[in-house]
Amino acid sequence: MPAIQDGPGSSHFQPLPFKGNADLAALVAGPKNGPFGLSDEMAGALQHAPGGDCVCWGIPFEIGEVLILSEQPVALEIAPVEARWLVFLHALDVCPPTERPDGLISPAPRSGRLGGRVADYVMCYADGSEARAEIRRRHQIGAFTHFWGENCFEAVAHHKPYPIRGAQEQLAPDWGWTQVRVSAADEGPWVNWLWAWENPFPEKTITGFRFELAAGGPGPGLIILSAISAGSVASQPLRWRTRRKARLVLSKGEEFEPDLDRDGLLKQIQLDVGQLISATPRLLYPNATWQDTYDNQLPSLSIDEILLEYTAHPEACFHLAGPSGRQIIPVSAVEEAGTDGPIQPVAPAQQRVTLRVIERGSSRPVPVKLHIHGEADEYLAPVDRHRIANPDWFEDYGVDRVHIEDWEGRIRAHTCTYIPGVTQVNLPLGKVYVEVSKGFEIRPVRKVVEVTAETREIVIELERVLPWRERGWVTADTHVHFLSPISAMLEGSAEGVNVVNLLASQWGEMMSNVGDFDGRNTWGSREAGGDGEYLVRVGTENRQHVLGHISLLGYEGPIIAPMTTGGPGESALGDPIEVLLLEWARQCRRQGGLVVLPHFPHPRAEHAAGIISGDVDAIEMTSLHYSYRGIDPYSLADWYRYLNCGYLVPAVGGTDKMSAVTAVGTVRTYAHIAPGAEFTYETWKQVVRRGETFVTYGPLLEFMVDGQPMGSRVAMSRQGGTVDVTWQVASVTVPLSRVELVVNGEIRESVAVSPDQAAGHWSVKLDRSAWLALLVRGHHTGKPEIIAAHSTPVMVEVEGAPLLAAADAVTILEQIEGAMAYLDTVGTRAEEQAYKRMRLALASAHRSLHNRLHQQGHYHEHTLPLEHGEHHRSH
Ligand SMILES: [Zn+2]
Ligand SMILES: [Zn+2]
Repeated sequence: MPAIQDGPGSSHFQPLPFKGNADLAALVAGPKNGPFGLSDEMAGALQHAPGGDCVCWGIPFEIGEVLILSEQPVALEIAPVEARWLVFLHALDVCPPTERPDGLISPAPRSGRLGGRVADYVMCYADGSEARAEIRRRHQIGAFTHFWGENCFEAVAHHKPYPIRGAQEQLAPDWGWTQVRVSAADEGPWVNWLWAWENPFPEKTITGFRFELAAGGPGPGLIILSAISAGSVASQPLRWRTRRKARLVLSKGEEFEPDLDRDGLLKQIQLDVGQLISATPRLLYPNATWQDTYDNQLPSLSIDEILLEYTAHPEACFHLAGPSGRQIIPVSAVEEAGTDGPIQPVAPAQQRVTLRVIERGSSRPVPVKLHIHGEADEYLAPVDRHRIANPDWFEDYGVDRVHIEDWEGRIRAHTCTYIPGVTQVNLPLGKVYVEVSKGFEIRPVRKVVEVTAETREIVIELERVLPWRERGWVTADTHVHFLSPISAMLEGSAEGVNVVNLLASQWGEMMSNVGDFDGRNTWGSREAGGDGEYLVRVGTENRQHVLGHISLLGYEGPIIAPMTTGGPGESALGDPIEVLLLEWARQCRRQGGLVVLPHFPHPRAEHAAGIISGDVDAIEMTSLHYSYRGIDPYSLADWYRYLNCGYLVPAVGGTDKMSAVTAVGTVRTYAHIAPGAEFTYETWKQVVRRGETFVTYGPLLEFMVDGQPMGSRVAMSRQGGTVDVTWQVASVTVPLSRVELVVNGEIRESVAVSPDQAAGHWSVKLDRSAWLALLVRGHHTGKPEIIAAHSTPVMVEVEGAPLLAAADAVTILEQIEGAMAYLDTVGTRAEEQAYKRMRLALASAHRSLHNRLHQQGHYHEHTLPLEHGEHHRSH
């Protein structure tokens, strides 16, 4: 059991040893779930549970035998002690997820119900009296494994936060310079120079040299000649040729070792008069059926072939070190066609070709996402794009997209780049495999092109198939980080995303995109010199690791800061909680902006208050780095709780793109600009506020209830009635499978549909207030079915009986109570006035829903959120 000491221990605390009922080491060594019936997940993690002498947050603990509380009450004796504080180091097992028949999940998987009471701890005194404390989920205790966004409100994780050094401060050479992936190796404390002297009389024998310094020559200096070598190659030995490629087939059972030594050499494959540029496991694309496979589909990975790139003198040799010993193979032998042996040639990419992409009926090039590979599955990048893209977080903002997946423990990746419509690329002779895409309304193209010595230009024609833009729909990604505004505009237009919201933020001690924020310009707008069709606007994502994140889009004037509060994970050590999400939201509204709850619902706490008090314009469904996961069923279920209580907050789609792993617009918002109205950033914000939106991974939809668009409220008489629901769906990306009508969170209608389009209508009888939304399922070949699109609902209100689901309302109140408990207990305290102001704001949101609940005669058990920090005493 590893001891944890996160710093020196305080002498103000002393461990209280006790006799437990289980030995951690014995449990780990014993049968899997042990006598206490631990979950598989907890049993599997038990080996990492700290043991021995520990210091956590500066508080010393002695972990010997532990006490496992299952069903029976357990009494514990300790040596008598007097103390003001008793600090417990404890954790819960995980809750198995409760899956409903419709596939939605609620309450929170793992953490279970927020505020759920799991135990009481009772303090027993020498005089026979007792003190009692309730132990509740996400308050005093959390799951043994911390699920992102599910923080405790009154407890902290066992290791205190700490500063870390930027990699550039600890590595040599510097991190940034390693990104160029080459070193000229021409500097250092000593440089000998190599000079190759071509003997004018190679047929003659050399018997010696003489070296004469010229008069007035090196002056006070001298020459140190360290050595001489004689060679017989046909051409300048210090001049290597342009880049070539080859395939290496490993011997049976041989494993490829990718690590470079200090001199940049691989253990298994080296070159003498030349250098290996890269060696990577070969990708395997379905080249024979390329045109029939889908956009962005990942290749598989060869287990025994390595793709080599090298630059070398024509008389260089490969040196292979394999299990069967050393092998020396001349590059000339490799490059001869039809050779046998472990290294096979790959056609070099030496033909400069112009690639142009146009839309049918126009000759104007259009920005697109592009991928090309050759017959050996080698990626062929444009001349001005990365050949080796970096997919890691905050490491590279190149305009590339790397679709990545861990595959049987190895990483396989499909690399693409964004081009403005025309580009130059060096191609090999023979077949090349081209993929071009531009959003959800244009059919993606996978095409095979034969490159000959005469090929100078390749033209790819795209076809716009789905008329959503013509009908007034525009698309948006509400959540992108780190790109420059101009890179964001290229990626947005190449993905068919009309509005990219680039969000500045604070990450610990790091600020991103703050210099790009000006509170004024929309890049790409007519006023800014663009064509007005593709826009980028810089906003901010303001973040608190427990209370939640909030995206403030397109506001005018000064940046709303601080952008993070309350210390790590999101803000800097020592930052107080000086402002609420609620207050950020109100400030954003005052500055004309749009308020979005990003990656809904996590971190799940305070935003409940924002929704209740009407300070939130939309909630965001997020893809993060998952391309095929679809809309998260848990996000939906959490959103439904608010709809069930009558809070019509629309849904938007945003990616939270932070690296090349995520494409802008993987999940996106469709918003309907009023017919005839001009599309500008302003009109886009208005539509989102109005709620005429849907979220999608590909399928497009139309949805009306009694002729009213998404986001509408429709009145109905006390008797109820029937509404007419009409819908239409179409997709050129994710194939469709089902269309469903969701009424008050339940699936009311469900029909199987053809993969590319469908339409229909339903008459729906309603006897009480209801919200109705369209849910679209689909899946790619070989991939599981996902929720691929979801509309914002239409709300039908029966006179005198507004929507209010008591059970959901209680969970919303509990969430606000959690936020208040956090402010009251472990949250880093701002000055008293700020603390009181924030607490009042939360209490008033809490009260508004609470009063509604009572006005409608719902009785429920609740603890008033006023008692935290007080001990419940009993005698
Ligand atoms: Zn966030
Ligand atoms: Zn974000």
